[in-house]
Amino acid sequence: MSKQLAQSARKRFGQNFLIDPQIIDAIVSSVAATPEDHLVEIGPGHGAITEGLFASGARLTLIELDRDLIPGLLAAFVSQAPKRCELLSSDVLKVDLKALDGPLRIVGNLPYNISTPLLFKLLEVSEQIIDIHVMLQQEVVNRITAPPGTSAYGRLSVMIQAQADAERLIDVPPTSFAPPPKVDSGVIRIRPNSAKRAQIDDLNTLEALVRQAFGQRRKTLRNNLKDWVSDHTFESLGINAQDRPERLPVETYVTLANALAAMES
Ligand code: SAM
Repeated sequence: MSKQLAQSARKRFGQNFLIDPQIIDAIVSSVAATPEDHLVEIGPGHGAITEGLFASGARLTLIELDRDLIPGLLAAFVSQAPKRCELLSSDVLKVDLKALDGPLRIVGNLPYNISTPLLFKLLEVSEQIIDIHVMLQQEVVNRITAPPGTSAYGRLSVMIQAQADAERLIDVPPTSFAPPPKVDSGVIRIRPNSAKRAQIDDLNTLEALVRQAFGQRRKTLRNNLKDWVSDHTFESLGINAQDRPERLPVETYVTLANALAAMES
């Protein structure tokens, strides 16, 4: 079976199918869905995780890009419970998530090439998302959860930690998939945090600031931000402009972005 899955997998769709029952169970248990939930599974594939999610009795929206997988998913899930299960045959990056009935719980063993844009897209509609359980490359999990002062701390760490709480749940080796990916993976839970989000006056300013601040990691904040942030602004906020971007805590990025947004408005 795993040989067949490996042979049928399409690289361009980032297909690495889960074949490890313990990992599949661990993911389904972490989600702990109830019949009151509306789950959205991104990239259900052959339904490895879908089966356990479906068994919870939750409402289920499946979003799958590979058209060859659609008939199997329709037969196994949608036709069994058409009232609570639907399938969108599309690219998740093009789906209007706002149009789905919230609040939503997102689950997915994600194709690695879309994981970062997808997380940003999900956070844009964070007010209608309860939580996100996703399998990512271990390296991306490390970046999301990295504390300041570490080499993994960067744009992804700041943007996600500024808006959500992230928790690494399960480490997953390549042998849990067919075909095995070249890198280790990990499952993470991300919970949008409305109190944190309320601290951010203008998300676009924060995004632009963080992108520019980490433009060149080896340079100082003053250098990376020299056409935008004056020494006076750094000083008035108690920020050492000689620091490297990875030294600045998430809250300080938010404070600086708010000050810049206020100056620009
Ligand atoms: N959930 C299955 C599992 O765990 O075995 C499959 C996981 S596989 C890593 C990723 C799945 O996402 C594949 O089924 C693939 O076809 C689908 N996919 C890839 N790009 C997608 C996109 N942009 N939108 C929706 N699904 C996508």
